[in-house]
Amino acid sequence: MKNNWKNIDAKNYIKKYKEKNISEDLALRIYTTHLLGKNNELVLHGGGNTSLKTTTKNIFNENIDVMHVKGSGWDMGIIDYPGLPAVELKPLLKTKKLSKLNDFDMVNLQRKSLLDSKSPNPSVETLLHAFLPFKFVDHTHANAILSLIDQPNDVEICKKIFGNKLGIVPYIIPGFDLAKLTYQVFKENENIEGFILLKHGIFTFGNTAKESYDRMIKYVTKAEKELIKYKNNIINTKKNIRKNNNFNHEIILPLIRKNLSSKNKDGTYLKWIFDLRVNQKILNYLDHSNLKIFTNKGTVTPDHVIRTKSKPLILNIKDIDENKLDYFINREIEKYKINYRKYYLINKKFVKNTIELDGNPRLIYIPKFGIVAIGRSKKEAKIAGDLAEATVDIISKAESLGKFTSISDKEIFKVEYWPLEQAKLKTLKRAVLTGNITVISGGCGAIGLSIAREFLKHGSQVVLLENNTNNIKKTPEDIAKFVSILKCDVTNKNEVKKAISNVVNMYGGVDIMISNAGAAWQGEIGKVSEKILKESFDLNFYAHQYLSQACIDIMLKQNTGGVLLFNITKQAINPGNNFGPYGIPKASTLFLMRQYTLEYGKFGIRSNGVNADRIRSGIVTEKMISSRSKSRNVSKEEYMTGNLLNEEVLAEDVGKAFLTLALAKKTTGDIMTVDGGNIQAVLR
Ligand SMILES: [Zn+2]
Repeated sequence: MKNNWKNIDAKNYIKKYKEKNISEDLALRIYTTHLLGKNNELVLHGGGNTSLKTTTKNIFNENIDVMHVKGSGWDMGIIDYPGLPAVELKPLLKTKKLSKLNDFDMVNLQRKSLLDSKSPNPSVETLLHAFLPFKFVDHTHANAILSLIDQPNDVEICKKIFGNKLGIVPYIIPGFDLAKLTYQVFKENENIEGFILLKHGIFTFGNTAKESYDRMIKYVTKAEKELIKYKNNIINTKKNIRKNNNFNHEIILPLIRKNLSSKNKDGTYLKWIFDLRVNQKILNYLDHSNLKIFTNKGTVTPDHVIRTKSKPLILNIKDIDENKLDYFINREIEKYKINYRKYYLINKKFVKNTIELDGNPRLIYIPKFGIVAIGRSKKEAKIAGDLAEATVDIISKAESLGKFTSISDKEIFKVEYWPLEQAKLKTLKRAVLTGNITVISGGCGAIGLSIAREFLKHGSQVVLLENNTNNIKKTPEDIAKFVSILKCDVTNKNEVKKAISNVVNMYGGVDIMISNAGAAWQGEIGKVSEKILKESFDLNFYAHQYLSQACIDIMLKQNTGGVLLFNITKQAINPGNNFGPYGIPKASTLFLMRQYTLEYGKFGIRSNGVNADRIRSGIVTEKMISSRSKSRNVSKEEYMTGNLLNEEVLAEDVGKAFLTLALAKKTTGDIMTVDGGNIQAVLR
C-alpha cells in the first residue's frame, strides 16, 4: 500500500490551520486522518477513527490534558477540526480503575468530558484511545488485514506475519471492556507498535502523526504481501462470467421493490431505494459455487451489520420464467424475513429491551446480474453498496488464503442491537417522502428546480429530465449535489423510455412523475402554420403522454400506487388571444390527466394537474414581461401582480402546489390553480 505522506502537504496543513489558530499537532492529525479516510481500502463510511493527546487551557486558564478524538457522524476523508472534538483526559483515565461500565454511562461520561458541549458524541472507541500512552492513535478496518484475521487460525497467522510487533486482542464488542482488554495486552508487551483486534481491525500508534500513519501503512502492506502469495480464483477467474442480458432490470428491480415494500397504517407505502453494483469481479464472485457458504457466515467487520445486515439474500433467478419471477422473489424475501425473525428471537436475550428491526435484506446477490444494495435513501443504499464491494474483495482473498470466518450470531446481534443504536431509532424521524423516487421533466428550468427543491426537502429522491444543456450546466449546486440529471428530449418517445429505464437502473423504480416541460407557441389560430401547431402538440401534449406511459409501466409492476402530476396552464380553460397553439394541446393534456385518473385509480395511482399563470420562467421571460406590460400601459410590477390577490406568483408557489398534490392521498382528477386569483380561469 502506497504511503501518501508528503512533507509539502504536511506543511500546507500546518500553515492553513495556523490561520485558524489551530496547533501544529491537530493540523497534522487532520492531515493523516484525511490520508487514511481517502483510501477506501482502509476506511469506509465512518468505519475507523483517530485521536491526538495534547494539552490546552480551560476557562480558568489552567493547563489540562485533553484528547481530540473522531466524533460520530464524521467521515475521516473530509473531517475538519469540529469533527475531532477535545475531551478532558483525566475523568476518562479514572475509569481504568472500574471493573464495569455500561455503554450509556460510558457515553455520558464522554459527553460530560467534552470541552465544547455542542460537539458530536466522541467515538465509542474513545476509551481505548485514551488508555494508550501515545500522542497519536490510528484505527482502521483495512481490507487486507480483515482477509487475514477473519480466519479460524487468526492468531497463528498474525504471529507469523507481524511477529511480536502487534499485540493481539481477542474479539469483544467495542466499549469499556474492549478498552480495558486492549490496555492489558499493551501492558504485557510495551514494545508493540499497534494491535490486531481479531475479526475487527487494526490500531497503530506513535509519538508523531507520521510515525502512527507510517506504521498503519507498513502493517497493511505486510498483510497485502502475504495475500498476494495466494491466487484469488474467486474474482480473478480465467472464464470471466458474463452478465445475462436477458435479465431485464426494468422487470427485476420494480418487482424486488414491490416485494420489499409494506403498507403503512395511513395507506401509504414504506418503500426502498436501490443502488445496483455490477463489475467483472462482482459477476465472478456471484457465480462461485460456494457463494452461499462463504456469504452466510456474517460480516467482515462487526459494524457493517448496521448497514448490510449479517447476511445477504441470494436470488438465483437463472431458471425462473418471467411470469413466475414475482412469485419467486416474494417467496425468497419471505424466507429471508422468517430466518431474520428466528435470529432475532434466539438472540434477543443477549441485549435488554430491544426493538425488533425490519427483516428485509440490505443486500441482494443476483448471479449474472449484480448486487442490489438497499436503503431507505440513496445515501443508505450507496453505503451498503460500498460495503458490499469491500466485502467481495475481503472474502474472496480470505477464501483464497484459507476459510473466511466471522464472529458468532450472538456477537453480531450485540452490535446490530447495540443499545445506543437502538436509542437512535426512538428519535429517528423520516421525512414524509422518504423512499420515493420523483422524476421531473423540464427539471432544470425555473419551475422544475422549485419543484425539485420541495421534493428534496421532503425526503424524495429526485431525477431531473432536461434537454437544454445550458440549463443543465446552470443547475444550482444546492440541487445538483442531491439529484440525478438525465439529458432527455421528452418529445422523443424512445429517449423518454430510455430515461425511465435509466431511472429504474439507478434507483430501482419510479413513484412520482411530474410532467412539467412545456413551451408557449403563439399564432392567430385562423392563420397559424401546421408546423407550429404540430411542434406545440409534440411538447405540450405528446411528451406528457410518453412520460406517463413509461412511468405507468413501472408503477404497475411495483404495485405500490403512484402519482402522475401535470403542469397544465390556465390557457387550457381560459384561452388568450394568439395563444391557441399553446392552449389547445394543453387542453388535451388536461383531459389526458383525467383519462389517467379514470383508468388507473383502481391501482392506487392518482393523477392531478396544476394551472399556474404568469410565473417568471423560460415561458414568461423578462422580455415578454416588458412588452406585455408596455402594451397594457402598466408597470412590470403591476403586470406581474395583476390578479385578485395583487401578489406576484412565484416558481416556489408552483413547487409547493405540486408537493401538496403529491401528498393529498385522497385527491385525484384535480386541478389546482396557482395564479393569484383569476375568476375567468376558475374551473367550473
Ligand atoms: Zn473499529
